[in-house]
Amino acid sequence: MSQQLEAVSQLQLPVPPDTPLSPPPSPHPLPSTQHLLTPNHSLILQEPAYAAVLYDEKTPGHCDHCFARCARPLLCTRSRLARYCSPEHQRAAWVAGYREECEALVRCAPQVPPPSVRLAARVLWRRAR
Ligand SMILES: [Zn+2]
Repeated sequence: MSQQLEAVSQLQLPVPPDTPLSPPPSPHPLPSTQHLLTPNHSLILQEPAYAAVLYDEKTPGHCDHCFARCARPLLCTRSRLARYCSPEHQRAAWVAGYREECEALVRCAPQVPPPSVRLAARVLWRRAR
């Protein structure tokens, strides 16, 4: 968070420094991005999250890569946990690090680590790359 605040301060924004910032009103906010809006809804910062996971209740109907809703997601045939909206997102997630997570999930089966543990693992795997 301190890096994000530092990035904001380096932008020399045309808004007063005490302007309250808030996430945008959205019925489907993407957990993989962060937005900061001024009171008049001007977007001043958008950046991808360092790591993100879906809550267990969101897993069945959402892509594990882009977090979009998908009616008929493709299921990872090894872990049987991750779901994807397209073969392209399945490949992209594999390249981005799902390879390590999938192996770990297979070793943990039939138990499934909670989202907080999966998020911590994604952060550590990303730092290791
Ligand atoms: Zn997707």
